[in-house]
Amino acid sequence: MSKIILVSNRLPVRLNEDGTPQRTTGGLASALAAVESEKPQHWVGWSGNSLENTPDPEALRESMAKLDIVPVFLSEDEIDGFYEGYANATLWPLLHYMAQRARFENDWAEHYRRANEKFADAILEIVEEGDTVWIHDYHLFLLPAILRDRMPNLKIGFFLHTPFPSSEIFRVLPERQEILQGLLGADLIGFHTYNYLRHFRSSLLQILGLESDMDHLYLDGRRPSFGVYPIGHNHKGFHEAMAHPGYLETHAEMSGSLKDRKLILSVERLDYTKGVPQKLAAIRHFLENYPQHRGNVVFAIIAVPSRESVDEYAELTEDVQREVGAINGEFATMDLAPINFLHRGFPPHELAAFYSLADSCLVTPLVDGMNLVAKEYVDCKRKKFNARPGALILSEFAGAAPEMPHALRVNPYSVSEVAAAIDQALTMPEDEMWERTRAMQDHIVKNDAGAWANRFVADLEEHSCDLNEDSGVSDLSVLFDSFKSQGQKALFLDYDGTLRGFENKAEDAVPDSELVPLLKRLSKHVRIAIVSGRPKEFLEKHFAGHGFALVAEHGYRWSRPDSPEWALVNPLVDVSWKEDVIPHLEQATQVTPGTHIETKPSALVWHYRLADPEFGLWQAHRLLSELTETTASLPVAVHHGKKIVEVASQQVSKGSAVEFLINDWNCRTALAVGDDQTDETMFAIEADIQNYHTIHIGGSDTRANHLSDIHHFRSFLEELADHLEA
Ligand code: UDP
Repeated sequence: MSKIILVSNRLPVRLNEDGTPQRTTGGLASALAAVESEKPQHWVGWSGNSLENTPDPEALRESMAKLDIVPVFLSEDEIDGFYEGYANATLWPLLHYMAQRARFENDWAEHYRRANEKFADAILEIVEEGDTVWIHDYHLFLLPAILRDRMPNLKIGFFLHTPFPSSEIFRVLPERQEILQGLLGADLIGFHTYNYLRHFRSSLLQILGLESDMDHLYLDGRRPSFGVYPIGHNHKGFHEAMAHPGYLETHAEMSGSLKDRKLILSVERLDYTKGVPQKLAAIRHFLENYPQHRGNVVFAIIAVPSRESVDEYAELTEDVQREVGAINGEFATMDLAPINFLHRGFPPHELAAFYSLADSCLVTPLVDGMNLVAKEYVDCKRKKFNARPGALILSEFAGAAPEMPHALRVNPYSVSEVAAAIDQALTMPEDEMWERTRAMQDHIVKNDAGAWANRFVADLEEHSCDLNEDSGVSDLSVLFDSFKSQGQKALFLDYDGTLRGFENKAEDAVPDSELVPLLKRLSKHVRIAIVSGRPKEFLEKHFAGHGFALVAEHGYRWSRPDSPEWALVNPLVDVSWKEDVIPHLEQATQVTPGTHIETKPSALVWHYRLADPEFGLWQAHRLLSELTETTASLPVAVHHGKKIVEVASQQVSKGSAVEFLINDWNCRTALAVGDDQTDETMFAIEADIQNYHTIHIGGSDTRANHLSDIHHFRSFLEELADHLEA
């Protein structure tokens, strides 16, 4: 039976004292255990220890295999470079908008690459055709493409547990292209929020020049898809924790020591993204400006130690402890220090008691991929577990914010706003607290961790690798038979975007070394015309002398096979409209850096490939609407192509050139292939012949009756040559 292979940096295992591994049930593991699939689950991940500190790696590998786990062993050096370095000191701060904290070291990136390769090797030990692989988080950005390369048909999902920042931040990363290409090896890439997805797409456009639809793009014959999957908390785990005998004990103890005082809770790892210093500043502001609450309220700050071996984190801990001491020194009374700083982790039943008793929970990260504490707090507010009512104060910069609209939403950088929210929480009527809580509970319970994992896996399983099912690529082998039929046959082939991909500079997009020999093989059996928007000089340089007809400038002029002479397809063309159009194109060029005008005999083209992609597109739309008005009564067609706006004489088109050649050559079978709007004129002609086939390259709307992409179409031409020669 096929299986699901889950891949994360850390494994859900703990090593017992005798070195044997034991499964743990922490966050991700419990979410994934809830996946309703009959397929067995296997895990691949780092063992957690360095290779140097693993006495018997083989024995560990064997005992982990019994738990369906494959460990990845990393040396001390690899842990330093890959994990502590690139993942935690380069990517983590950048993904959280803290570019000034990000450190860049060349050999870290190299360790990151090698570690990702090691994960791939470990997966390949167990993976089989038909399996599904789900990769987690920023430690493994390169893994999808590495796996894709080694197993092209594997179903691969990737989920990012952190934010994806604006492209303005992401582009700071020296390896930004490699990372995006790595991710695009996946079939489905998931993010917590719509904004992270939006930023990712904008990075694809700004950094790789790839345009995408909201939830997918077409790439090399594949269709990587994207989606928004906000992770939920472990609902079942917290309800079990509240049924644990220790819960009531802790609850009773804490209620006793609180007496009539109100409790304001905060729970987080001590990480600079969580904004603990800013929270302390807000608490100080609150104590100074709302003196009526002094002595009646206690702040419990649970700060779970994190990455303590890193200097930056050690400094943060020191700063926080110093400031807690200062606030307590300033505002303590005989029997109460306002802040209770708890620098350790708590088991779930104790944490649940904190949540259930706290009158407010202060969740104020500066940036946070999701934030589960906010969801856990709201879920633990249950009367049947003796919970007190409470109000959630939530940073607008937490990924959870869009899902929790009934929280008191704050900007964590504004001490006065946070202080006012604390006051509002402390004075909120109980009924309102329960109403707000209930309004959020339903949603977060329905979308808990298990539901999240199920939704992602279901979408991934449904994702089709086969583009035939997804309207991306048709099966072109159905065309072979008609090329075996009697009578004259011809191929009308667009060049850019059909026989060759795009480059930033058009002159760089020259034919690869295999193209002309392939077309020559075909031309022994069928007539070939290259039907392009390019000038005649370009076509002559790359295609003359091989027996192909050349149609240049979108059907304006042509040369016969083996003839150096060029003739106009339609000798009566009028181009006097150009003087009305030029001023509009000049104006657009002046205000849009990176654009230029190309003058063709029967057309004018405004190019914006080198402009900022989004700005260029916006200006193109403005230009198009201007031109629609200006040219209403002129004999031209205006069209928006790939990074161009073109105004062309209506008396000239690729379609009329193809019609002309079909007659001139007396064709019985013809195939026209192209990728953009100008090629639609070839698809639209009514050719009165036995077989007229049309193929559109790319995934958008078209009149063509078959769809393909550059890669598949090239394979088709090769197979067609084999068939014709057979
Ligand atoms: N947590 C815990 N014990 C503690 C404090 C926190 O188990 O003493 C858990 C908490 O229940 C939550 C997680 O740590 O599930 C923190 O997740 P969150 O998404 O809020 O932040 P992250 O640390 O993942 O950035």
